[in-house]
Order: sequence, then C-alpha cells, then structure tokens
Amino acid sequence: MLYLGCHLSSSGGFAAMGRTALSIGANTFQFFTRNPRGGQAKAIDPADAQALAELQRSGAIGPIVAHAPYTINPCAAVPTTLDFARRTMRDDLARMEYLPGNFYNFHPGSHVGQGTDEGIRLIAETLDSAMTPEQSTTVLLETMAGKGTEVGGRFAELRAVIDRCKLPEKLGVCLDTCHVHDAGYDIVSHFEDVLAEFDRELGLSRLRAIHLNDSKNPIGARKDRHECIGRGEIGLQALECVLHFAEPRGLPVVLETPNDLAGYAAEIALLRNNF
Ligand code: FE
Ligand code: FE
Ligand code: ZN
Repeated sequence: MLYLGCHLSSSGGFAAMGRTALSIGANTFQFFTRNPRGGQAKAIDPADAQALAELQRSGAIGPIVAHAPYTINPCAAVPTTLDFARRTMRDDLARMEYLPGNFYNFHPGSHVGQGTDEGIRLIAETLDSAMTPEQSTTVLLETMAGKGTEVGGRFAELRAVIDRCKLPEKLGVCLDTCHVHDAGYDIVSHFEDVLAEFDRELGLSRLRAIHLNDSKNPIGARKDRHECIGRGEIGLQALECVLHFAEPRGLPVVLETPNDLAGYAAEIALLRNNF
C-alpha cells in the first residue's frame, strides 16, 4: 500500500487532521506533538483520539507520524536544556498512547562542540530516560543534513545511538530525502547504492518512514532547505523511485515541502498520477 500524505497543522485536533488528509488525497500525515517553541502541550481529548484511531482501523488512514518539536536538543550540553528535551519526549510518548501503534519522529540534535561520540551517548541516554517497555509507539531517529554540529548526518551515527539504547526493538529510522541528499548521499543517481549502505549500516528493516522533500541545494551542501517536489536538486524522477521503494513496505511517506494545503493536494496528485 502506498501511504502518502503531508505535514498538517494539529490545531483542530486529531480527527480534523484525519479528515483534512482524506480531503487532499492523503492516507497518512504528520503533525507536531506541540508548538515547536516548546511549552505545555494541549490536553488530549480521548474522544477525538478515538475518532482518528477509528479512521486508522477502517484502513482509510494508515500509520501516522508524530514529530517532536525540532527545538528540543536531545544531546544538549546545558543540563536544564537537556532535561527539558527529556521531559518533553517522555510526556510526548505518554500522550502517544492515546493513538497506539504509530510513529514518533525526532531530530537527534546537535552536540554543540561536545563531539559526535558524546552526542551519541547523550541521545541514547535521553531515549532510555523517555522510553518504556510498555509503549506501543515506535520512535524514529530522523536522518539529518549534517549542518553545524548535528548528529545523524551519517547512517553509522544513528546506528551507534540505537546500539546504546535499552529498547532497540522500539526504535527505527525516518529517512528525509532532502536531508540525506544535503548530507552527501547520492539518491539522485545512485539510490540503490544508498539503500545498500543504509542496509549495511542500519539494516533496511529499521527504515520505517520517509520524509519526501526536494532540496534547494546541491548534494553535500549540508543546508537543509526543503523545496517543492520536482523543483529542486533531487527532482521528480528520483523521488518517484523512493515512492516505489516505500510502497511494497507500507512505509508512511510524508511531504514537508513549502506548501499550503492546496499545494500539498497538487503534489500528492502529481506523485500518485506518476506512480
Ligand atoms: Fe524533521
Ligand atoms: Fe524531515
Ligand atoms: Zn529539514
């Protein structure tokens, strides 16, 4: 099954996101668990969560992806900043149990001069402090562009985090096409080779979700500027190859392109028509 959707605003609640997704030809979506600037998350209405869970049970909506606020740093050097990331993640994962069996994606963070190894150690410690054996959610580390001191620009770094965690079976990876391109992986001309490298470093079974974005910058630029599908340096053809990889595996594919809802609807139509 091809699960294709986009990032949606969560302001109207869960069921509203499900209906919005269906109205634009999507059968999955992503949302921020809370305001990216952090702070208290809105209380969850169990009936609202139930309504979305029902849409998922009916098969209309496939697995969905919750995205942690990108402002938290799971390998921060300042103790209060690190503690904030851990409390946010713990609270998000508790809330995710209102929608059992979905994905929670986060940015591994920036080591801010502590070094990649210390960053990896702190990220694993953050995950261990937030995850529980009872949770039904699979936590995804997002592949990063490698800008600044970001951890996760190389597949091996993500593997090193997973290997240090107590619950590796509840962890996976979300591949962001713009990020891996900007990090230097050639998905335009050598997608098969990139997949082979992913398999060697991480195991393809750990690849559980895709962020489908074009990139404003050339390969290896380490920039992380998303572009609309087919208008950037990756191009429609290469992105269609990613869809053909995701479809038989049932991976949720989420657009994070610079679009309003009508723009997302058009991109979903374009991708489905070419598929
Ligand atoms: Fe992200
Ligand atoms: Fe992303
Ligand atoms: Zn990005």
